[in-house]
Amino acid sequence: MRRSPAAVPFVLLPLLPLLLAAPVPRAATELAPAVRLVPGAFVPGRQPDGNSVLIAAPDGLIVIDTGRHPEHAQAILAAAKAWGRPVAAVVNTHWHLDHVGGNPRLRAAHPGLQVTASGAYEKARTGFLARYRAQLEQLIAETPDATRQEPYRAELALLDAGAALGPDQVVRAGGERTIAGRRLRIGLEGPAVTAGDVWVYDPGTRILVAGDLVTLPVPLLDTACPAGWAAALGRLAAVDFQRLVPGHGAPLDRAGFARYRAAFGGLLECAAGKAADAACIEGWLRDAGPLVSAGEQAFARSLLEYYVPLLRDPEPLRARCAGS
Ligand SMILES: [Zn+2]
Repeated sequence: MRRSPAAVPFVLLPLLPLLLAAPVPRAATELAPAVRLVPGAFVPGRQPDGNSVLIAAPDGLIVIDTGRHPEHAQAILAAAKAWGRPVAAVVNTHWHLDHVGGNPRLRAAHPGLQVTASGAYEKARTGFLARYRAQLEQLIAETPDATRQEPYRAELALLDAGAALGPDQVVRAGGERTIAGRRLRIGLEGPAVTAGDVWVYDPGTRILVAGDLVTLPVPLLDTACPAGWAAALGRLAAVDFQRLVPGHGAPLDRAGFARYRAAFGGLLECAAGKAADAACIEGWLRDAGPLVSAGEQAFARSLLEYYVPLLRDPEPLRARCAGS
């Protein structure tokens, strides 16, 4: 089955042949005494989970992003329990399902927790996500095998959560903000990865949680305005962070981020020129260097075979950069 890239959001196309791959185990690791990471998973054959970061605050834990699959939300809840603190607040970096999918489970386990995010989800519900729902329904209709329908049905169930995926507190501007009693710096970008992307800087630990403004093994361009994204990376570079947690992939130091940013710029430049798609793909792998491990190269190539043509399709990009 072939579909135009625009019709298959969330890297569904490269994942289709292997959608039933085995789940990936996740355990929390300590980034600083007050900060733990529940790593997401982004592997061929499965829709991704974004990374989640847990920050200890006076009123309980702040959880930044909640993953997509139930087992990721479960890992966050287990990490909170092991830490002996309730989840007091959630911050979502953006509305993609691999970052907000666990919100309903966390709300159920910790009633009263406040979710903070940009206002972009509401618009996505009637736009991008409504189209995604229609595509899932079509895929189910075209898939006679009930077992193979399961991943699509799971996505529909997530979409059915509706408002439970969205924020209680809407970020309308960047700046200092106290969440669960801890002072944080919040950035608001967009259009970049989505129409409204939030990043979180914790001055106490100098950890910057970037969401999908930084993703490995490649930038995930499904809903992106690339030029706005590049500008947002410039603002991240001005933050005095020591360690940056990307939306997908392992934490980076400043040198790793600088390399990512340069590779991102190179990819955009290549896509804007006359080089073949394959040259842009190899250029990304060359510029990203050790950020993409040998074991991830084939996966990175397959993703970019999908994303580079997206970068060369001017009309959808214009619309997204105009905020629609
Ligand atoms: Zn993501």
